[in-house]
Amino acid sequence: MRPVNRGPIPTDAYGNEINFNKYQDARGELIERLGETCSYCEMHLDSGLAVEHVKPKKPKGADDRIPERELDWHNFLLACSNCNSTKSNKDVILDDYFWPDIDNTFRAFTYSDGGIIMPSSELSAELQSKANATIKLTGLDKHPLNDPKASDRRWINRREIWNIAIRAKERLSRNDYDDFREQIVDTMTGHAYWSIWMTVFRDDSDMLQRFIKALAGTAKDCFDHGGMPIPRLGGQV
Ligand SMILES: [Zn+2]
Repeated sequence: MRPVNRGPIPTDAYGNEINFNKYQDARGELIERLGETCSYCEMHLDSGLAVEHVKPKKPKGADDRIPERELDWHNFLLACSNCNSTKSNKDVILDDYFWPDIDNTFRAFTYSDGGIIMPSSELSAELQSKANATIKLTGLDKHPLNDPKASDRRWINRREIWNIAIRAKERLSRNDYDDFREQIVDTMTGHAYWSIWMTVFRDDSDMLQRFIKALAGTAKDCFDHGGMPIPRLGGQV
C-alpha cells in the first residue's frame, strides 16, 4: 500500500482554507494531491474514484452523519468501489489499523508472486495482526476462491500487473538504458499498483527512486535516498 501525503487543507485564490460544503467537492483536490488511484488497493481509476472517509461519516448504528468527519480534509482519502464497499461504514479506531496517510504502509505489507498481499514478516506479531486487520477491513485478501463476487477484480488486476512488471524487469536486464527506464515508469503510471512495481524492482535502487518520484502524493519521507523504506515519523511502522 503506497504511503501518501495529502498535504494541508487546500486554499482558495485568496489563500484562505477551503471549507467544503459537500465532501464530494474535495474530490478534484484529492486527485490532484494523491493521483488517480485508490488509496488502499492502488487500482487506477478516474471517474469511479470516490472520496473515502477514513472514519465513516455515518458509522454503523449512528442515527446521523457526523459533520466534523464528513467534511474534514484530514479524514479524506480516495477509494475504488470495492475497497469502499468492503470497508463500508464500520467505525474504526485508527490505532488498530495501518493507514496510507499516517504509516509507512509499504513496510506493513508484502506483495508476492501473483499479486498476493500479506502482512510483512518483518513486523512484530502485534503489528502483523494490525496489518491483517487492515487487509480484512479493505478486502485486499479477496480472490476468486474466497470471493464469489465476480465484480471484484482487484486480485486479478494485481496478478496481471505483477506479470507485466516481471516482463519489464526482464527486458530491462537485456536493454538497460535511460529512455527504457523512463518508459517503464510511464508503464507503471498507466497501470498503477505502485507497490507491485516497487516490490518487483526492489533490487534496483534507480528504478525505486524513479517510482517514488513519479506519482503525486507519494510520501517521500518514507524512503531513504536509495529508495528503501524507512519508518514514518508519527506512524506505527
Ligand atoms: Zn481499492
